[in-house]
Amino acid sequence: MLLKPLNLADIFLVAVLISAFKLTEFAEIEVGLGFWAYVLFVLCFIETLSLLSKEQLWEREQQTFCPDEKTCSPRALQQNLKQCHVCGQLSDSVHCPRCMTKLKFRKTNSLAKSTAWMITAMVLLIPALALPIMDTINLGLHTKATIYSGVEVMWHAGSYPVAILIFVASICIPIVKGIALFYLVYQVKRCTHPKLASKLYRALEFMGKWSMIDVFVVILLVSLVQLGTVLSVEPQSGIVFFTAMVLCQIISVNHFDPRLLWDNLKQQ
Ligand SMILES: [Zn+2]
Repeated sequence: MLLKPLNLADIFLVAVLISAFKLTEFAEIEVGLGFWAYVLFVLCFIETLSLLSKEQLWEREQQTFCPDEKTCSPRALQQNLKQCHVCGQLSDSVHCPRCMTKLKFRKTNSLAKSTAWMITAMVLLIPALALPIMDTINLGLHTKATIYSGVEVMWHAGSYPVAILIFVASICIPIVKGIALFYLVYQVKRCTHPKLASKLYRALEFMGKWSMIDVFVVILLVSLVQLGTVLSVEPQSGIVFFTAMVLCQIISVNHFDPRLLWDNLKQQ
């Protein structure tokens, strides 16, 4: 079931559309059959993934585990039960009886690792936004563009939806993710709104891949537009910082253990 979080086909399709749109500034673009085939593939792929259920797949290997009713308590932790992060099976053994994954009550040093990766990401965000991400060479004339200047160009050209999409995906989401993760760390300590924090964590997981749009746009433009000094696109250092920042944020969210959000609930 790693396919779901690793599925970037939909993001890539959006990046293809934005790249084609950017190229219309310099050349006439005609959509070929391959494009429509790819659109169809993305739709079918997303529909197939949505129909796959992790729970149904594991139910074929269902282990029956019934906790002792006399020792029943509201929390699995108090019954020495651990939930497998791969298949969801509850068990009190060292390894999951269903998929043999090593079980842990909580991820090791979750908060420290998660915070460290997010701080690294926020530091990388500064050069990612300040430095140019690509250099467009048009008839020998160099035009370097940062993420923000790209948004400005799109906005002034009247492409409001594209400008808003890039602004949200590449500038707003990374900043919101940083603030949200620090709020989650605060919630682990204080546990004032664990339900809201759990929803926020799931939103963070969903948002992760959308920041990759700009990375794909640069990759596509650099690979497609290579006509020497007539017209070509070169990647710049900003995109390296931006890619590193996105990866650090994804690793940070993966290190965070959402079960920690509920640990201090009873102490209120
Ligand atoms: Zn398992």
